[in-house]
Amino acid sequence: MADKYLVPCACGKSVSVTVHQAGSQVACECGNMVGVPPLRKLRTLPRDEQTAAESTSAWTPRHSIAFGGTVLTLVLLAVAGWMTATQPETPEFGKIYEQQLAHYADATLEKWKPLDFWLNWQINEPILVENGFNEISTPQQVNYQQQLDERLFHRNVVLAAAGVVAALTMLGCLVLPRTAAKS
Ligand SMILES: [Zn+2]
Repeated sequence: MADKYLVPCACGKSVSVTVHQAGSQVACECGNMVGVPPLRKLRTLPRDEQTAAESTSAWTPRHSIAFGGTVLTLVLLAVAGWMTATQPETPEFGKIYEQQLAHYADATLEKWKPLDFWLNWQINEPILVENGFNEISTPQQVNYQQQLDERLFHRNVVLAAAGVVAALTMLGCLVLPRTAAKS
């Protein structure tokens, strides 16, 4: 908004003019025509603070919601992006177990006699039946997996929050008036 200046009239009141009106004539409330000084001189006159105050109050609740909501949405999206970027890959515990098993087998099975195989099968078969071949997890693995799942869950909560904030922001902009109510 262009600056406004107060040009005094002979009646004691002032006329608020913009810089574009420099050098022209404006009508005062009293009916007199007041000469607006040229631009250089106009700038030395007192500024119309009322207009300045009005222009700042043109920052409506709608603006606040649009600005705050957009910033908050971007921050939440940034946090979710960061959480996604720093999410550790889920280790393939099954693969690790197979590798360990293969390593163990290489080292041990050569020395085994048929009876050893049979005994080993007797011990491990019920465990395999109960857990599945790749599903055997140590408590540490289970715990780690839970932590990873929790991180993903928190990431999704942040993403959902960003969505909610964005939706509320748009709703607020639709519902709230475009211009500030004049007091
Ligand atoms: Zn006047």
